[in-house]
Formats: sequence, structure tokens, C-alpha cells
Amino acid sequence: CGIVAYVGQQDALPIIIKGLKRLEYRGYDSAGVALLNPNGLTVYKKKGKVSELENHLLSQENLLSKIGIGHTRWATHGEPNDVNAHPHYSSNDQFAMIHNGIIENYDVLKTDLINKGYKFHSETDSEVFIKFIEDIYANNDCSLEEAVRLALHKVVGAYAIVLMNKEEPDTLIAARKGSPLVIGVGDNEYFLASDATPIIEYTNQVVYLDDYEIAVIRDGKLQIKTIENVETNPYINQLEMEL
Ligand code: GLU
Repeated sequence: CGIVAYVGQQDALPIIIKGLKRLEYRGYDSAGVALLNPNGLTVYKKKGKVSELENHLLSQENLLSKIGIGHTRWATHGEPNDVNAHPHYSSNDQFAMIHNGIIENYDVLKTDLINKGYKFHSETDSEVFIKFIEDIYANNDCSLEEAVRLALHKVVGAYAIVLMNKEEPDTLIAARKGSPLVIGVGDNEYFLASDATPIIEYTNQVVYLDDYEIAVIRDGKLQIKTIENVETNPYINQLEMEL
């Protein structure tokens, strides 16, 4: 239901938690974040309010991260619980992903992945989506960005997604079709969110991702491509600041 992600030089977690709270008005049943630092890629998620996620994080260590993805979930496939909450991750724990929307052909894809030996922890369509990307990545010897692009040609439904990769600690990959996604362009930092409310206090420069576009934020630069792999020039909108 709600997406917030950050990459830059600041501590990502407080920005993400605050952003998720700003998106609370959209409604949700659970919340989660994924962070990446020298201790690894770690996912934290809880059924209930963002404040319950915060309470859970109080007892955790190594939360310092300059990159992160956060999500508030409105369950469509699988009941609201800790396991079905996002982020979801790949079998080898290399990628984590948040997803808004519904993958309509998830059951066909899931059967195929189970036949290939993939195990599923949750009942969500979103976990099928990330493992489908993982399978393409593994079989094509390509980058994560390319695996996402190829996967988007096969999934049916609506999505806004953001992915992190343990092997690329300065990179966020995002895409959308049917669900909104806004990119805030800061000074050597980027914010992604379902709408501009979590972003506006940091920057008034935003790019609205279009359907069938993939955004790659890598090493402080934003690149946008269509799912046909054609690069487009990001149009930067200046938002009016309400003070
Ligand atoms: N379909 C996904 C799920 O049920 C995402 C729901 C959402 O947009 O929050 O987990």
C-alpha cells in the first residue's frame, strides 16, 4: 500500500519510518523495512502499526544503513501477519523487494517456481514476484536490473516495486505499472515514495515514474529506462513547498 525508500549519505531508517508514518492515512495492516550495511541485508517486519515495527526495532542492533526500503502493506493475497508483511526476499537473501499492487498471474508463476525447487515462506503474490526475478537472474547471468526488466514482460497486474541488492550497496531499482511511485531528487540522495508527502520535507524536486518505466539509482545518479530498454530523460518537477 505504501512505499518509502532512501539512498544517500544520511541514516536511512529514521527517514523511512517517518515517511511510512506520513503514508499511514492510506491505510495498512503491517509494516516492514530492509537495511543494508557491513553486517548484511536484513529485513524487519511486523503486523500492525508502524509504531509496532519501531518497538520491534528497539531491540535490534546494526540498524545504521545509508540505503533502505520500507513498506506498509494492505493485504490482498495472504492474511496480515509478520511473514506476509514486506519486504520479501530472494532464496539466497541477496535481494529484498517491496511491492504495492497485485500480480494476477502469480499462481502460474508460483507453480512453475515450486517445480524448479523454490520454497515459499509467505502466501503473497509479492514473494512470487521477487523469486521470479531471482530465477531470471540466476538463469540469464545478467544484472538485477536486467532481470527485473525481463520479469516485467511476464508479470500481469499492477505494481510499484523497489529492490535492493546486497552486491550493490549504493543501488536502488524501482519500477511501476498502475501503482504510483515518486522519486525525490536531493543533493546526492534520493527518496522514493508512493506519493510526495514523505519526500517534501527533504526536497521539492520530484520525478513521477511512468507506467512501464524502470528507475535505477546507482552511485548517486538516476537513470530511467522503459521496459523496452530505451533510456528516457527524467523530467524534474518543482513542487510548491507548503510552509
Ligand atoms: N499484493 C501484495 C500483498 O498482498 C501487496 C499489497 C499492497 O499493495 O500493500 O502482499
